[in-house]
Amino acid sequence: MPATPASRPEPDAIIVGAGLSGLVAAAELVDAGKHVVIVEQEPEASLGGQAHWSFGGLFLVDSPEQRRMGVKDSLELARQDWSGTAGFDRDTDEWGRRWAEAYLEFAGGEKRAWLHEKGVRFFPIVGWAERGGYNAIGHGNSVPRFHITWGTGPGVLAPFIAKVQAGAAAGLVDLRHRHRVDELVVDGGAVVGVRGAVLAPDDAGRGEPSNRDVVGDFELRAPAVVVATGGIGGNHDLVREYWPERMGRAPEELLSGVPAHVDGRMLPIAEQAGARLVNRDRMWHYTEGITNWDPVWPSHGIRILPGPSSLWFDAEGRRLPVPLFPGFDTLGTLEHIVSTGYAHSWFVLTQKIIEKEFALSGSEQNPDLTGKDLKLLAERLGSGAPGPVEAFKERGVDFVVADTLPELFEGMRALSPEATIDTDNIEREIRARDRELDNEFSKDLQLTAVRGARKYRGDKLIRVATPHRILDPKAGPLIAVKLHLLTRKSLGGIQTDLDSRALAPDGSVLPGLYAVGEAAGFGGGGVHGYRALEGTFLGGCLFTGRAAGRAIARG
Ligand SMILES: Cc1cc2nc3c(=O)[nH]c(=O)nc-3n(C[C@H](O)[C@H](O)[C@H](O)COP(=O)(O)OP(=O)(O)OC[C@H]3O[C@@H](n4cnc5c(N)ncnc54)[C@H](O)[C@@H]3O)c2cc1C
Repeated sequence: MPATPASRPEPDAIIVGAGLSGLVAAAELVDAGKHVVIVEQEPEASLGGQAHWSFGGLFLVDSPEQRRMGVKDSLELARQDWSGTAGFDRDTDEWGRRWAEAYLEFAGGEKRAWLHEKGVRFFPIVGWAERGGYNAIGHGNSVPRFHITWGTGPGVLAPFIAKVQAGAAAGLVDLRHRHRVDELVVDGGAVVGVRGAVLAPDDAGRGEPSNRDVVGDFELRAPAVVVATGGIGGNHDLVREYWPERMGRAPEELLSGVPAHVDGRMLPIAEQAGARLVNRDRMWHYTEGITNWDPVWPSHGIRILPGPSSLWFDAEGRRLPVPLFPGFDTLGTLEHIVSTGYAHSWFVLTQKIIEKEFALSGSEQNPDLTGKDLKLLAERLGSGAPGPVEAFKERGVDFVVADTLPELFEGMRALSPEATIDTDNIEREIRARDRELDNEFSKDLQLTAVRGARKYRGDKLIRVATPHRILDPKAGPLIAVKLHLLTRKSLGGIQTDLDSRALAPDGSVLPGLYAVGEAAGFGGGGVHGYRALEGTFLGGCLFTGRAAGRAIARG
């Protein structure tokens, strides 16, 4: 097959991957007047990668939005939270730690102003993700920090896409879709270009899998190559291969929280060219996945972003231990669920809880915020579950809705014939928990946490239902949701320095190669350590992409 001729002189940089991190790097280079070629395996419809589907939640520290909601945050507090959450404990964490410190300063410093200047705005109620539940130096956010972008994921992407498109119009950007990189070209110990396959055109819609039919090949050269190819969450074989030993056997059953293009192929290609891959066993998968009744990609699952009131039971009907309440400790809950030998668990709740506490992660599941639609948003703030949540309740295969406990249990048994559910225990737990509601105080720590959460205005307004009896008919009907494990993010990847330059196994800079976003473990090959505070992934793409773009522009 003939090589595709380079249509222009050698660019200043080649960026592999047109997701958020690649686009941010490209936008910085355009600002500096540099010429960039972006090669992307997917069709144009999928421009923006995962970020398009994202909820647009961004981690900010001591923002005006927090202050307006009465939240007192500080860099010291965020540092304490990050450190307790990351649990850095390896030699390979050296660069992750440095990136974490730099990122915290970004999140508490210029991040918001930099985005604001690009037209990015935030929903005024700040969310509280990963609440922790241990002691003050343990895992979790001490305060709400999850800032939802007005326009969700597409709202985060918009300024960078606009800049890249303007760059293309000015002749600075050459965006080549259906170009898949299969090899990095190395010469004299430096990465000097890419080689790969031109894939056949495909009219797959956004996020849908596209064909891998090869119709040609290409080779491009540049003094800088940026790997911006995302993580491994769409490739369950890789997820299982790198599943951490400390978490037991990798589950057979997984839903995909990311499109199939998140295939991890580029990581060993970078390794072969001399880059060091670290922390591949660190991943961030969710435990509240539900089967999408209207799937876009294979095994498409949606994550419930839960408020704290649903009762959480394992596959056999045991209540999850303290503090594994909804939204408190994703990794701890994952570890616990896997240890039960099943890949699913259950939320048991009421209509009143679903109305206030279920949000679904994803731009398409939040048409009000994504479409900046104030009328739809008002409906969210009013009574009733948001339309997409109601659609799942009615059409989703994982939902059981019933007026009585026996009917609820019958539905649960039908959905999980492989497990024997101790429904007597579930009933005992529910009745005991309901009895605790006679007092303002309680020994049930979940109830105490719910009451504590309602002291935060944002939670009281839109996130945490007034405590009520699960068996109160006025709060019904009863609902049980079968929750699956859902793959999402890779926390390890290509080790990089603070300029996003890829490092070799001996710690030296690998000339010519840069890595950004999820492919770089969001910086340094693992800025998060073991766990994340949430909203730090899009932010990590912004920060690492910007660092690479600026470093390359400096020369
Ligand atoms: C539903 C959903 C909700 C989310 N919500 C949030 C949130 O609220 N907050 C948050 O912080 N994060 C969130 N995330 C995570 C965040 O969106 C991603 O981690 C981030 O967008 C990853 O961006 P990236 O640029 O690193 O990679 P990607 O978006 O995966 O882009 C990589 C691109 O590289 C291309 N590519 C890969 N290999 C090759 C190759 N060999 N040759 C050519 N091209 C290649 C891919 O096709 C893809 O387009 C969410 C993700 C999802 C899916």
